Amino acid sequence: MIIGLPKEIKDNEYRVGMSPGTVHTLIEHGHQVRVQAGAGDGSSFTDGDYQSAGADIVPHAEDAWSAQMVVKVKEPIEQEYRYLRQDLILFTYLHLASNKMLTDTMMTAGTTGIAYETVQIESGELPLLAPMSEVAGRMAVQIGATYLLKTLGGRGILMGGVPGVAPANVAILGAGIVGANAARVAVGMGAQVTVLDVNHMRLKYLDDIFRGQLLTRMSDRFNIKEIVYQADLVIGAVLIPGGRAPWLITKEMLSHMRRGSVIVDVAVDQGGCVETTHPTTHSDPVYELDGILHYCVTNMPGAVPRTSTFALNNQTAAYVVHLANEGLDAVRHNRTLLHGLNIHRGFLTHPAVAEAFGLKY
Ligand code: NAD
Repeated sequence: MIIGLPKEIKDNEYRVGMSPGTVHTLIEHGHQVRVQAGAGDGSSFTDGDYQSAGADIVPHAEDAWSAQMVVKVKEPIEQEYRYLRQDLILFTYLHLASNKMLTDTMMTAGTTGIAYETVQIESGELPLLAPMSEVAGRMAVQIGATYLLKTLGGRGILMGGVPGVAPANVAILGAGIVGANAARVAVGMGAQVTVLDVNHMRLKYLDDIFRGQLLTRMSDRFNIKEIVYQADLVIGAVLIPGGRAPWLITKEMLSHMRRGSVIVDVAVDQGGCVETTHPTTHSDPVYELDGILHYCVTNMPGAVPRTSTFALNNQTAAYVVHLANEGLDAVRHNRTLLHGLNIHRGFLTHPAVAEAFGLKY
């Protein structure tokens, strides 16, 4: 198969759909890969890296898009709609349910769209979303520690404290992938960490692996208030699959929190778990409200594109190879990939996406 790798052109997107390693694996399987010149720049991969892996470097986006399958990171944006056509397989994050224009365009074009975010293994886990949650969870603490600096508007607290001085108090709401990864970094920095979740199994898991290095609490209104009011840094990491994040911190609660404390609401992409959360960008990431700094960037992993590209490719590469080897038969043979099929020949083929547009599936 011929596989295309265009450069991402969405604002501030520096990740790239395939690393040179993934390209190399495809070439080993006898495929041909067309990489748009400069596609890897944002992730610090040179055209030479891709050439060494066996790719053909092509000058224009349309050359990469003319392939039988295109592998990307973000959904196509308007400038890319003209490349969509019926005999194209597009493998990328699509998020169709919240994008009617793209959905209509792909339906009219007849393009086959396999979305990373709905590829699902038997246990229900979403393996192509998980790596970005790992990245965002670890970043959340790094970022929170930075905004706790007085010079950046924070409370002026060093995460690990020093001998004789207490460390920062970190509250993590949600003990899933983001929460567990945030806990790992916060504990590593020497902070005093409390993780809250409604799922006892997740609390038990963290309690087991951290062996007393953090505290776990059931997430109810009483405990949330008690823990959040003492916190210097709060990480929002809850998820209700398919739903909007619940508001665990209300606007009224902000007035009881420590002045200069920081909220990093990672759950912002699902509406946020803080009433006062609104989406921010890497170019203008924080705002202050009632003395509390809010960091609510919706695509946190985009700030560490090289790490994120490797992390994403570690999970996507096997599926890319499977699709390249078998074409659409791969979807028939592999239930995990079948969950990823969102749109095919003008039909919405994923129940949640179809329902989002009021269609019966
Ligand atoms: P996950 O499913 O692994 O974990 C979510 C956890 O929240 C679960 O353990 C669940 O039991 C818990 N939870 C649900 N309701 C709760 C409540 N009321 N109180 C406490 N905990 C509760 O999900 P994840 O992969 O960790 O993702 C968390 C959020 O981060 C999602 O909204 C995801 O989309 C988002 N995310 C954002 C970025 C970004 O760049 N901003 C990047 C990656 C992920």
